[in-house]
Formats: sequence, C-alpha cells, structure tokens
Amino acid sequence: MPKNVCSFCGRSEKDVNYLIAGLNGYICDNCAQQAYEITKSANASKAKPSKGKKNQTLKDVPKPMDIKAYLDQYIIGQDEAKRYLSVSVYNHYKRLEQPIDDDGVEIEKSNIIMVGSTGTGKTLMARTIAKLLDVPFTIVDATVFTEAGYVGEDVESILSRLLQVADYDVAAAERGIVFVDEIDKIARKSDNPSITRDVSGEGVQQGLLKLLEGTMVNVPPKGGRKHPDQDYIHVDTRNILFICGGAFDGIERKIAQRLNTHVVGYNSVQNVRKIDKGDLMKYILPQDLKSFGLIPEIIGRLPVLTYLNPLDREALRRILVEPKNSIIKQYEKLFKMDGINLNFDNEALDYIVDKAVEYKLGARGLRSIVEAVMMDAMFEVPSKKVKNFDVTLTYAKEQLDKSGLQEQAG
Ligand code: ADP
Repeated sequence: MPKNVCSFCGRSEKDVNYLIAGLNGYICDNCAQQAYEITKSANASKAKPSKGKKNQTLKDVPKPMDIKAYLDQYIIGQDEAKRYLSVSVYNHYKRLEQPIDDDGVEIEKSNIIMVGSTGTGKTLMARTIAKLLDVPFTIVDATVFTEAGYVGEDVESILSRLLQVADYDVAAAERGIVFVDEIDKIARKSDNPSITRDVSGEGVQQGLLKLLEGTMVNVPPKGGRKHPDQDYIHVDTRNILFICGGAFDGIERKIAQRLNTHVVGYNSVQNVRKIDKGDLMKYILPQDLKSFGLIPEIIGRLPVLTYLNPLDREALRRILVEPKNSIIKQYEKLFKMDGINLNFDNEALDYIVDKAVEYKLGARGLRSIVEAVMMDAMFEVPSKKVKNFDVTLTYAKEQLDKSGLQEQAG
C-alpha cells in the first residue's frame, strides 16, 4: 500500500505531526501553516472588503439639532459654524442614502469651508463631529502638498491616510471625513498666475479639486509620492466629506474693500448703518476667498462657507471650565486618581485667562499656562498625604513666574 505523503513537501506521515486529507492528496501541518501565513500576508497587502460596520445609515445619524447639542458639550460659542456644520453633515448622510430613482434629482456634495483665526476651534469641531459619527476621519495639512513632480507630497496621500485610519477598509474610507487644515496656505501667491510656477499654490488647488469633485483616484497605499511600480488602491471620493479650514489672515481687509465698494451704491446709507466694523468676518462671501487666492473651481466645490469668531476673554474663561473635556476637568481627574480633590479659585482662573489673552496664545495657550501652574503640584502632591489641593491666585502667580513661560511668550 502506498504511503500517505504531503502533496506539497513530500514528507511522509511519520515525519510530520499530522496529515490532512483532501480529495486527491494530503497536506501536512507544516505546509498548512505556511499556506496560512502566505494567504494572510497577501490579504493584508490587498485592500480589505468592507466590514460594513462603519456604514452608518441616515436612521443612525443624529439630526442637525442633536449634532449641534453634541458639539455644544465640547465647543464653546461658534454657534453659526456649529449650525452649518451640523446641517452639512446631516445632508451628507442624506446624500449617501439617496434613493436612485428616476426623478432626476441628485443631491450634490456639501463640502465645507471654515474660516477663522488659528486656535478658534476649527479642528476641534471637525474632530468632535467625527467622534459622533464614528466614520474614518483624518486631518491633513495642506502645506505639505506640492504639485506633482516637486518636492513634497501628492494630494492623493490625503486618501492614503484616510485608508490607514479605516484599516484599509475601502468602502468605509469612501464614506469618511477629511479635514484639510490651512487651506489658505495654498492660495495663489499672486493675482497674475503666469509670473512663475506656483507649485505649492494653484497647482495643489488643481490637484485637490479633483478629490473634491469626486472621482476615482489611484491611491498609493503608503502615501507620499506616486510611483510607477507601486500597486494602487482605487478610491472613489464621491462620498467623502471634505471640511476645509484656514485662518485666511488679512481676509477682513478684502471683506472691507468689497463692502466699501458696495457702500457707493444708491442704498449706501442703509449699508453703512448695518455694517459691524468690529466683526467683518460675518460678512464673508465666496468672492472674498477668491480675492484671497483660492481658484473659483475650488470655491465652487466648497459650497458651505462659515466662519469662527475670535475667542474673547469670556469665551476663554468658559473654555477653561465648561466643555465636557475641559482643561480644568482633566486636571481634576488627574488629581482624583491620587485621591485628591483639586480646586481652582475663581481669581486663579481669571488670572490664567488674563495671561492667555496677554500672551496672545488663544485657547491653545490656556493649556500651557495651566500646565506651568500645576507642574510642581503634580510632582509633589502625589507623595504627600493630602486630601485637598487649592490653587489660589497667589499660588498661580508664583508658579507661573517661576515657570519662565512668561519670558518665552514675551
Ligand atoms: P484651529 O483648528 O482653529 O486652529 P483648534 O481646534 O486646534 O484650533 O483649537 C486648539 C485648542 O483650543 C483645542 O484643542 C481646544 O482645546 C481649544 N479650543 C479652541 N476653540 C475652542 C472652543 N470654541 N471651545 C472649546 N475649546 C476650544
């Protein structure tokens, strides 16, 4: 009787742990293990089919008012931007769910552009929305991109990142949200596009336009530059929501210019009365983005335009304590884990806010200031047998003076 041997390596039954019988042959445990490894790595390098987990349907998506209420828990003020964002995200999901019928009506994409100084909550807003919706979300900085052929990254690498966070689940990535930060930095450098090549400006805008419009894009799985020998993953950007943000420093001047030219009209008296000079941002229109140097095609693909207000003292004070994840709540939690009740006196909080205003660091500065104030306490208090720790105005002042933050900020 012929011996049973592995059809792959030829080893006999007695040389292996066990043989698995197939229709016309055998495979030993060793070869089966190897076959498993090979298939596993082959599958990993290929894009995975959707697990369907992240395919949220309209039913599961909170209504605009619920989205805004959720944002309110984390973000102070910025009501206008929150409303716009809530509606756009909700419409985005409606669009994903739209029935394919023959009424000829197709809901178009509602990409968003948010204009507001740095540190006013643009990224926080996008991040919070993504958390609520549980879709793949990535933040990319527009400044790293340059036109194809120049040093820098291709715009397609935006999608590589989205794929990475989606664990290479293409279908999930195709419904994801991309936050493109610092979009203002790829504005056309001059009004005359022909002077020199503008590799990090208009060229990038053209590249980005393709993604915003919704096309099939060949994405290098690892990002960076496209390479002819590389395997690409095909990603359809039609349903990806793009939220762009930028500080657009100096755009107020463009707005003022536009408003002034309008004032000359026959209803100038009414206009003059209505314009709030202290807050020109609220009058922002797409044409101001064009004057700033975004190409009209890009602006057309970002139909939802909203703005964020600069944070005043009162807003900073609220940011310190009110959000669900506020800085003060985070420190209280840190101390609680050592069994210590941490308390900030109101005067100490006011002082921290004053310093943030003084250093012109905005909301970002609040954290560095609190960190400087709390450093010694975080070092010493866990070893002390205390139940309470009070941060008084005097203590806050002393610690901040000691920290040297003042000199750095000044
Ligand atoms: P931007 O993207 O506008 O430059 P961020 O969203 O990154 O600013 O804000 C920086 C930090 O400042 C956030 O992590 C958050 O802690 C705080 N912050 C800014 N604006 C707000 C706000 N409106 N409400 C609560 N926190 C804010």
